[in-house]
Amino acid sequence: SQLSSLDDPEVKSIILAEQRRQRCSLELIASENFASSAVLTVLGSCLTNKYSEGQPSARYYAGNVNIDALETLTKARALKLYDLSPEWSVNVQPYSGSPANFAVYTALLNPHDRIMGLDLPSGGHLTHGYYTAKKKVSATSVYFESLPYKVDEETGLIDYDEMEKLATLFRPKLLIAGGSAYPREWDYARMRAIANSVGAYLLVDMAHLSGLVASSVVDSPFEYADVVTTTTHKSLRGPRSGMIFSRKELSDDIDKAVFPGLQGGPHNNNIGALCVALKEADSPEFKTYAKQVISNAKALSESLMEKGMKLATGGTENHLMLWDVRPLGLSGSKVEKVLERCSITLNKNSLHGDTSAVNPGGVRIGVCALTSRGMGVEEMGRVAGWLVRGAEIAGKVQEKTGKKLADFKVGMEEEEFKTEIDGLRD
Ligand code: PLP
Repeated sequence: SQLSSLDDPEVKSIILAEQRRQRCSLELIASENFASSAVLTVLGSCLTNKYSEGQPSARYYAGNVNIDALETLTKARALKLYDLSPEWSVNVQPYSGSPANFAVYTALLNPHDRIMGLDLPSGGHLTHGYYTAKKKVSATSVYFESLPYKVDEETGLIDYDEMEKLATLFRPKLLIAGGSAYPREWDYARMRAIANSVGAYLLVDMAHLSGLVASSVVDSPFEYADVVTTTTHKSLRGPRSGMIFSRKELSDDIDKAVFPGLQGGPHNNNIGALCVALKEADSPEFKTYAKQVISNAKALSESLMEKGMKLATGGTENHLMLWDVRPLGLSGSKVEKVLERCSITLNKNSLHGDTSAVNPGGVRIGVCALTSRGMGVEEMGRVAGWLVRGAEIAGKVQEKTGKKLADFKVGMEEEEFKTEIDGLRD
């Protein structure tokens, strides 16, 4: 309905096709969700037209009386959602999660200071300092010295003893908790103790977990962290944006790092949409949703394991799981591509013990989006069945066609494959 006034047939048809894709497929990408129509409405509102560099009541542009009210309300809702005392402050201007993290580094560190975060192949995020033997991939590893900690190769769990040893040797100025593909709780208390022992700040990037933390269905990092960053579009189910929570004594530096350090004008349509999402998240319905996310993830992981599938760490304590497809003789990319042809979207992911980052041995599965569509534990059993069926098809295709299909292309005309897919669609 929002599209009815759009007089641009080319863009309209792309959007409608994407809408159809989202409606007609099973969305299992762990970082995605479906924002409410209220959030989408505010994203498309006149708030997008306004420049408002600066802070509420201290702007570099005129005409910001309404934007001041909006940003002030958004900050108040964010602090209330996480039940934060006046010791905490929040900045709601970051354009997204990556700029939020870089603003924290800009505020707390000098160039070439040392940082330690979870390695990307272990489930960490690029912005936590990722580099390879060949390349400093993330700007974070270009401007800061990064030494990652990893998960244990056998168990897939973070090895806190090893983290402590590394921290004692490396003496980072910033220790980072949080990741993009870690299915277990974080030991924030232990990480606080490690940070204290070397005089480091503790940053918790709760991007994946922020909706679950808000509903108290996973552990909260606020008791232990100096700074907490998050995206707002994953389990929190808001617009694509970012927030930085910090202890009051750091908040001036954080605010200055966001603007004028790193960004220009805030994206006020995103801030408005975030404001709406924060109110939605502060409701009994959202708490019910978050509980259901946890139950669904547990149900899906148990169903997969009952069907003989192997999951990293043997399960999940949050919204996501890592399916190890190596025992099936498959790679994560092949399973991802076959499932995409079956209208099931998820993503390949490296697993502990992987030898190739290009062709990793796992896929990451998250249930936030399907839970938003009203699916429950019963549906998770069926989803597990389809996932296993997809892997069987991937195996068959691999057997039949050999290596050539390691790079499976959409548009392939394999008769048997088409029949299998049609069977799966039924
Ligand atoms: N931090 C974590 C843990 C993430 O998983 C992500 C995104 O996936 C980000 C930061 C970056 O967020 P964005 O993609 O919004 O920049």
